[in-house]
This record gives sequence, C-alpha cells and structure tokens, in this order.
Amino acid sequence: MLFIYKLLAKLIRIASKMVGKKGTDLPGKIIRKFNNNILKDLTKNFEEIVFVTGTNGKTTTSNLIGHSLKNSGVEIVNNFEGANMLDGIISTFAIQSKKNSKIAIIEIDEGSIKKVLQYVTPTKFVFNNFFRDQIDRFGEIDTLIETIGTELDGKNIQLILNSDDPFVTRLSKYGVNNIFFGIDKNAYSFQDTGITESKFCPKCNNELTYEHIHYSQLGHYNCLNCGFKRHDVNYSVTKAIVNPLISLSINDSEMFTTSQLGDFNIYNMLSAYATLATIGLPKSDIISGLSSYTSNNGRMQTIKHKDEKVTLLNLAKNPAGMNVSLSIANSMDKNIKLNYLLVLNDNGADGYDISWIWDSDFEILKKQNIKNIVCSGKRAKELALRLKYTDIDVNIIVNENIKEAVEKLKTFNETYNIAIPNYTALVETQKELESK
Ligand SMILES: [Zn+2]
Repeated sequence: MLFIYKLLAKLIRIASKMVGKKGTDLPGKIIRKFNNNILKDLTKNFEEIVFVTGTNGKTTTSNLIGHSLKNSGVEIVNNFEGANMLDGIISTFAIQSKKNSKIAIIEIDEGSIKKVLQYVTPTKFVFNNFFRDQIDRFGEIDTLIETIGTELDGKNIQLILNSDDPFVTRLSKYGVNNIFFGIDKNAYSFQDTGITESKFCPKCNNELTYEHIHYSQLGHYNCLNCGFKRHDVNYSVTKAIVNPLISLSINDSEMFTTSQLGDFNIYNMLSAYATLATIGLPKSDIISGLSSYTSNNGRMQTIKHKDEKVTLLNLAKNPAGMNVSLSIANSMDKNIKLNYLLVLNDNGADGYDISWIWDSDFEILKKQNIKNIVCSGKRAKELALRLKYTDIDVNIIVNENIKEAVEKLKTFNETYNIAIPNYTALVETQKELESK
C-alpha cells in the first residue's frame, strides 16, 4: 500500500512543478488526508533519523550533513529544499526514500517539533540555538523549550547540543548519551557580538555570569545561584580564521578550509562536524564533505576555478544586500589583493529604477585592498559612476557584455574575486563563472 502513496506523492510533485510551484509541501498534505499515520509508515524501516533545528542555521547545518554523507557515497533522505514542517517532511520521505534508505537527515522547524514527534521519533536530535528576537511567533521562548523538553522526555533520543547556548543546554536532561559542542574562549573573535542585553539562567532566572561571550547569549557562562553552567564539550572549535572563507581546527586537529563565508557559519560547521562524527563518518570524509559544500543558488556561493582561484558570488538587489556583499572581504587579510565584478541590469524583474545603488555604501570598498573592479550589465556605466563618487583608487573596467566581463575577471592573477550581480544578471553571471 505504501508504494501507492509514494507514487501519488511523486505525481503530485510533478503536477505542482508543471504549474510553477515548488511542490515540496503539497504531496505530503494530500497523502496525509488518506492516511494520517503516513509518516510513521514511511519511516519505520529507518535505522538513523537525525533531526536538526534551531533559530538560525538549521538549513545550512542540515545541508552540510546531507552533502557530506552523499559525498561519501551514503544513501540518505534529506529535505535539502528546506521544507521543514510536517507536510514537507512527509513529502521528503515519500518522494526520496528507496528500499535501501536507512538514514535521514531532516531539518525541522522549531514550532513543528511537537506535531512531527507524534508520528516519528528521531534517533538523534541536533539543537543549534534559540534566539529570542526571532522566536516571538512561537510565544515565550521558555514555553517553547518546555514544550520541546516534554516531547523529548523518555524517548531515548541522543541529543547533539550547542553547549554555548544556555537555552539549548537546558534540554540536556531530556536526552541519552548527549554530545556537546562549543567554541573555545580564544578560538575566534566574532565581528558582530549582537545586543548586549542581560542574559538570564534558564533554570532559575538569576543573571548568568559570563567568562566569555562569542555573540548574543552564546558563550561560556555559569549561574552563581543554582550552579547551571556550560557543559564540557566533546567537539570544540579550537581555532578559526575567516579570510573570507572559514578555516577551522576542531579538537586541536590540523586546520581545514571550507567553502563557507560569514563567521556565523562557524557554529554550523561545528554542529555538522559533531553530528557526522557521532553518526560514525570517518574524519577524512567529514573534512572532505565540509570543505566542498557550498550553495548553488548564487547566495554566498563559492566557485572554485581550475587554477585554484576562487570567486565568491552573492546576489544583491537592494542597498542592504549590497552592503552585506561589499562587506564580505572586510575580514580578509589586508595584504591580499582582490578583484570585484559588479553586474547591474534594469530589466522588468529588477525594477527599472536602479537609483538604489546610490543608497548603497560603496565607500566600504575603500578599506579593502582591491586591484580591479569590472562593471557589467545593461547599467554598467551607472555603476562606474557610482564608484567614481567614492573616490576609490582602483582600476575600473566597464563592459556591458556579461560574458566578456567574466572572461576579463578570469584573466586577473589574484586568488580572490567577489562577484555581485543583481536579480536578472545572476543566472548569466553564474553560468559564465562556472564555465570552464
Ligand atoms: Zn540558575
């Protein structure tokens, strides 16, 4: 009977895609109408089901774990498209699972845990973080964690916990053989330490004492009132460098360089490492997986060229996105020269008004060690004019043809390029960068 539901799910998926939908939730929604226990049936032969959650980074962490396993030839089910609520998870199992599927890596929305755990009990559960500001939609954070704790209690789930987050550590009493991860005090200084509000003990509400803060409430803490404290860790980042790709040493091992940007990804890397090691993947496979993973959608994507050069590609379609993209290289060693490719179109989907580039903070570039900036796309000249107003002292090249602009970029000798296209320029820029 199960194969009929799976077939139905696949057909609905195809039909949804034909009408231009993503088709990630609808298959699950419909087959659940026929069989309310469908998720239970779909998952009963799995040996390892790993759930990954947290306010930030769950998609990246889950995809890092999924990619590393696939990269090592392990057959898995993985909701890499981010469909992380009940129906999306049902769709994922219905569409992807095969006879020999034994391992699932599933990202789950914090607010869906109670619902999903009615039908399936994971073997492992990864908790990255709980941030108060973004969690308001679920009500009080304490209530959320209480609810999650009640769901986990007595189910013999191995928890993989970010020990640096007091909210996460609080869940440890509900798991068995828990694994803890965290970042050493002197391993890395985060650029943005977040709001410095008072942080309170999740057990007794007394103000926590911090020996070290990484950012927000993440750090090395203890409660002088009840003794609640950061748990000793099994996996720790002992050294991290962001230049602008993240390089890591875990448990004092040799450093490896990943394809990830942005220092908040250090936690995602560590979380994925701890999970993969706990599953039993050999260390060399873990490092190979974590080193090679990048997005493929032009958002913080790393493209490695055959001559060891690297282009970092990030879409920007408004001033905020542009400022983030222009800041990527701020963490780079100032002795390393780099090049930029800026691509601006003004097609319908971009909005014909491109005056937003005048609200973007191109002055950020003045603090970086830049050799060339190539301006391309239909409004290349406007970009060049904007740069002129920053008074920046670099070689500016204007070529409206994207293919030729990318070819020019590839002739430069520097190791790092940063490419920032707007919406309709992205696909062509990406295609040309990826072509050999
Ligand atoms: Zn306390």
